[in-house]
Amino acid sequence: MGDDFRTVSPPRPQTRVLSSLGRRLVLATLLFCLLFTLAMVTWRTWQAWENNLAEMNSELALIDQVFQNTLAHAIWEMDRESLDQQISSVATAAPVGRVVLNILRPGQAPEVIERNRYTVAQSGVVPVLHRQLIAQPYAGAHEKVGELTIEGDHNLLWERLWGEARSIVITQIIQSLLLAGLIMTMFNRLVTVHVVHIARHLGELAPQTLKHHLKLQRTVHRQDELSLLEYQVNELQDNLHAHLERQHSDELALAASRDQMAELVEARTAELKAANQALEELSRHDALTGLANRRYFDELKEVEFRRAIRHQTPLAVLMCDVDFFKIYNDTYGHMQGDQCLKEIAKTLRSVFGRSGELTARVGGEEFVVVLPNIDTTQACEAAQRLRTALAARELPHSGSKVSPFVTVSIGVAELEPQTMGHFDQLLQRADQALYRAKHQGRDCVAL
Ligand code: GH3
Ligand code: MG
Ligand code: MG
Repeated sequence: MGDDFRTVSPPRPQTRVLSSLGRRLVLATLLFCLLFTLAMVTWRTWQAWENNLAEMNSELALIDQVFQNTLAHAIWEMDRESLDQQISSVATAAPVGRVVLNILRPGQAPEVIERNRYTVAQSGVVPVLHRQLIAQPYAGAHEKVGELTIEGDHNLLWERLWGEARSIVITQIIQSLLLAGLIMTMFNRLVTVHVVHIARHLGELAPQTLKHHLKLQRTVHRQDELSLLEYQVNELQDNLHAHLERQHSDELALAASRDQMAELVEARTAELKAANQALEELSRHDALTGLANRRYFDELKEVEFRRAIRHQTPLAVLMCDVDFFKIYNDTYGHMQGDQCLKEIAKTLRSVFGRSGELTARVGGEEFVVVLPNIDTTQACEAAQRLRTALAARELPHSGSKVSPFVTVSIGVAELEPQTMGHFDQLLQRADQALYRAKHQGRDCVAL
């Protein structure tokens, strides 16, 4: 379907082999001149024919005028010699083709004297003059003595006609050729040269050369179709140039805004990444103390448990619970309780800061410490260190029945790979130890 609407541009004409407009104009002019010449030649030849006929008629009339009286006299006088002489003179005169003299004598058959310029009889339209010869033997007497017939020279008539026709044809042809040449030259100078110039200019146009205006090489600047074309081409170039400039600046602006957008996206992505990280941190850490929360602890505990089983390394757990914390809250208020939990978390971090050691808040005031590669004895020592560090902080707890300061009870348990299949079993063991520590009077460590 798409092909149906495709526009097919016509082939580009070669500048060199153009069938020139000027040449076509000249051919048309020549054709017109030929027809015009034919018509003119016909008309003027007809006129020439008429003129020649009239001219020959008047020439014959002149001859007749010269000879009619002398011929009549010679017949009357029966002067045979003079008659022959005169007839010969008439017959040899230029426009005469044939002369016939009829001599009339009363009581006798008429005598005919004929002179022909040509041996072959002439045919065609020639002027013929008939004259009755009247003799005047004495004043007042008139007697018809003969008839004279003078025919024009057919060949001479046609020769004259052809001569004139030839000159008419030649002048018409020369006139036509000159006219065609003039038209060709004028058309070339006025139109063709400029049209070719415009075509070349348009052919060389490129986005960079749009500023170069078309300038026709004309000696006299006229307001005509060519100057209008020149103006319109330049106008088109200007419009195109402005459009391209606008497009270029738009593209630059677009690229700049695209860069800006990319930077913005990058910044937003970084922010989002940071926010996600923070969110992940938040989701893994307890908001109050910053220690690992129960969820994160549940993730990590299994990892540590399996590692210890695989490497057959010891793994200890401390379960810590703040002593009399309900009373602490009741005494100092919930806010102060939170503050106290923060202080305890700080202490936990300071004591168990080595890599691999994990501290998590698993309940309200309950904390778990996972200690890889540590046996029970070392774990008990670590628990004692925690107690000592907390004691050193001397967080007042007037409600405590075991100390004037905040204390914790700690249950210690160690992994027994043979009996324990889950971390929770280890945790349970630590919880039981914690329970014992509470029962042993709190602020102590129990296995
Ligand atoms: P014991 O020595 O037997 O552990 O006594 P206790 O009072 O600490 O025991 P219990 O488990 O009954 O009380 C725990 C209290 O801890 C109860 C609750 O008010 C408090 N608590 C739990 N979570 C928070 C908390 O996030 N902030 C504060 N301020 N108090 C908490
Ligand atoms: Mg508790
Ligand atoms: Mg408690």
